[in-house]
Amino acid sequence: MDHDHQELPSDPALRVMALESLLVEKGLVDPAALDALIDTYEHKIGPRNGARVVARAWVDPEFKKRLLADGGSAISELGYASQGREHLVVAENTPGRHNLVVCTLCSCYPWPVLGLPPVWYKSAPYRSRAVIDPRGVLREFGLEIGEDVEIRVWDSTSEMRYLVLPERPAGSEGLSEDELAALVTRDAMIGTAKVTLAGSAR
Ligand code: FE
Repeated sequence: MDHDHQELPSDPALRVMALESLLVEKGLVDPAALDALIDTYEHKIGPRNGARVVARAWVDPEFKKRLLADGGSAISELGYASQGREHLVVAENTPGRHNLVVCTLCSCYPWPVLGLPPVWYKSAPYRSRAVIDPRGVLREFGLEIGEDVEIRVWDSTSEMRYLVLPERPAGSEGLSEDELAALVTRDAMIGTAKVTLAGSAR
């Protein structure tokens, strides 16, 4: 699969670290404030966008159809704009198929709907093993997928980003769209968890 990163500088991580240490050294930023900002985008703001998209798809079949046909234009209906030229593909979990998202070469991630990727998503073991042994990786996340369920792994690139549309949990029929969104976790939208009525820490 084409993995085109030509729009990035040669080593963006190194440049960011150099910039950060310079800013901290000059007393222009507080490293704790930076950590808090990153944490916010990784855990709070980012994934809440995706959760609203999922909840809307659960309650509005016409929106779901549009979302599965063209993820990028459907999320823009909710005010989430994809930047640049990447396409957003939404992969729907069903009783017979579970979807899992990875970027085997680096850390491509659907950031308009999920924010910043978690550290484990960028780690070498996840990136290599998600493709070779997805069932084993999911088991380590505490997710047992039955042998009768197909696991489909989506390898992201700078041009194609993937969002998992999890199954709506049984027993959630009476919940409002906002209440449903509150159940949807970041990991459920990467495919390393399911959505449950109890929600989860992930
Ligand atoms: Fe990547």
